[in-house]
Amino acid sequence: MSLFDHADLIVVGAGLYGLTIAERAASNGHRVVVIDKRPHIGGNAFSYRDDSTNIEIHKYGPHFFHTNNEEVFTYLSNFTDWYPFELRVWSASGGKIYPMPINLGTICSFLNRYLSPGEARKWVEESAKEIAEPRNLEEKAISLIGRPLYEAFIRGYTKKQWQTDPRDLPAETIARLPVRFTFDSRYFNDKWQYMPKDGYGALFEKMAAHPNISLRLNVDWRDCRQDASKALVVYTGAIDGYFDYRLGALGWRTLDFEAERLKGDFQGCVTVNYADETVPWTRIVEYKHVRPETVCGDETIIMREFSRSAGRGDEPYYPINTSADKNLYASYVELARRESNVFFGGRLGGYSYLDMHQVVNSALKAFESKIGPRLGQCRK
Ligand SMILES: Cc1cc2nc3c(=O)[nH]c(=O)nc-3n(C[C@H](O)[C@H](O)[C@H](O)COP(=O)(O)OP(=O)(O)OC[C@H]3O[C@@H](n4cnc5c(N)ncnc54)[C@H](O)[C@@H]3O)c2cc1C
Repeated sequence: MSLFDHADLIVVGAGLYGLTIAERAASNGHRVVVIDKRPHIGGNAFSYRDDSTNIEIHKYGPHFFHTNNEEVFTYLSNFTDWYPFELRVWSASGGKIYPMPINLGTICSFLNRYLSPGEARKWVEESAKEIAEPRNLEEKAISLIGRPLYEAFIRGYTKKQWQTDPRDLPAETIARLPVRFTFDSRYFNDKWQYMPKDGYGALFEKMAAHPNISLRLNVDWRDCRQDASKALVVYTGAIDGYFDYRLGALGWRTLDFEAERLKGDFQGCVTVNYADETVPWTRIVEYKHVRPETVCGDETIIMREFSRSAGRGDEPYYPINTSADKNLYASYVELARRESNVFFGGRLGGYSYLDMHQVVNSALKAFESKIGPRLGQCRK
């Protein structure tokens, strides 16, 4: 008997995209088999509780839910209660600490004097005049926020993120650098900024709990695709991997995480970015500050984050998206069009960086417009 016997739909990948499709299909009466090569569901947004401290750890980097999309917020609210959480990020630069993204508080601390919103705007605009026609990332950043802020907050951080001098990165790498001329230091502007009350792990379990969904973990598509025969498939793994990299591999950045268990309070907040080139990590996350009232005991867990180019076998996190990558991706999309029973989706299937609300939105839209109607036709 095959893994996929009696399935109306096979979903490859139990991340937010795959779970949204699976839940929608199951709730519409279809039998769904979801596989994931990892030992857990939730994809990159997966979290678990540390046994001794009860701290919620986000295994693949910190995830903060934010959206302006009411449909997405309402949909996810079927599976979780929320608690309000507005992320505030700090940046360590030159031995001092500043609020991020750059706002009036950052500028006043940096210049060591109070500037009104109008004075700060004028100062940034004057500094940005230095470069009119940017030819690389460094010049583009200077043309947006001026050299002083660029050198303090962007240069070293970007160099570490890309392992490349910003002068050697294309100007198109950044479209804008947000500067707020108010003291609003929230990291996101969105209307809904929340965390799932019982954690992301509990949210995902509830999404997958429908009796029409069968979950198979530690199962790689490559090892069972021959059993799928004519079934409809939603594939949320890497698009180049689906085609065995036959046209070449798409470029990704990956992250390494270094966890440390310590006593007390390490940094007094959730996230500190490290802007100086001399510090090897890009940021430190201290998870207990997300919900300090739920933490047991006096221990804390911090996670240092390091960025590097992904090799085969590394977790792909951020698409590099050079023009060669874009052309290669377009060629894979051409191949994907010929797979009449397979829908590609999610951040890996679409070779793009997407926040969680964007992933859920695109899955809901794909289900309504393409996958749901096809399942209707395929109904046994
Ligand atoms: C460091 C970091 C921080 C982030 N922080 C935020 C944040 O604060 N807020 C926010 O909204 N978003 C954040 N995101 C984005 C968020 O992670 C994504 O939006 C979301 O995880 C994408 O869901 P997905 O289902 O498309 O992909 P994934 O979560 O990657 O799920 C894909 C699943 O497919 C499985 N898979 C792949 N290939 C195969 C195969 N061959 N066989 C079987 N299974 C396979 C994988 O194991 C994985 O579980 C962050 C991303 C990163 C990298």
